[in-house]
Amino acid sequence: MKSSGRNSPCPACGRVKDADCRWDDTKILCHTGTDLKPGQTIEVDGKRWAFIHHKGGYSGCAAVFKPDGYQGNTEWKRGLQRPTPNTPQELAALQTSRHQWSDVLDHFFAAFDIAWNAPDFYSAKPDELKAAFDSINDAQAKAVGLSRHLQTIWREHPDLKHCHKLRVDHCLKSIAHMAEDARQFQQFELGTPCPVAVRAIAEGL
Ligand SMILES: [Zn+2]
Repeated sequence: MKSSGRNSPCPACGRVKDADCRWDDTKILCHTGTDLKPGQTIEVDGKRWAFIHHKGGYSGCAAVFKPDGYQGNTEWKRGLQRPTPNTPQELAALQTSRHQWSDVLDHFFAAFDIAWNAPDFYSAKPDELKAAFDSINDAQAKAVGLSRHLQTIWREHPDLKHCHKLRVDHCLKSIAHMAEDARQFQQFELGTPCPVAVRAIAEGL
């Protein structure tokens, strides 16, 4: 199969930043995902491709497209309207909010990983300790920001929910624990007043 890359944009989403989307003549596995409903189609180089489902690829999270009219395309036939003409441009517009949420989730996971990998408070040097608290504060701030929008994200983008909800829930719980640990360490070991951001998470997201 071909992969997305600098000189080969994904036919479905136009992705060039990495090789996550793959395709051949019989299917497209698009890792950007899509807001299309099963049976809705896009046009790529004059050929129609129908969106089939969200659970393709090794990750189980890729959007699967197959040539429209392909004999195996039975999934969309059950009571779904089709075809819905969507050019890649229209699809791109549809996906803008999805891309944004996807980026927000990526940043949240990255901030979580940094906080999670911070050294143990008791063995950390002073500069490491400061970096650890900073990373926990940063992850906590992103958690609070994300929490406000989670219901909307999950409702509007079921495939993002399918791929990320368990991990997000786990991260939110872990961040709350890390923030509480940091608060207690600062209070009892360092005798410093508890920062507002740390207190906020300690009192529950
Ligand atoms: Zn793609």
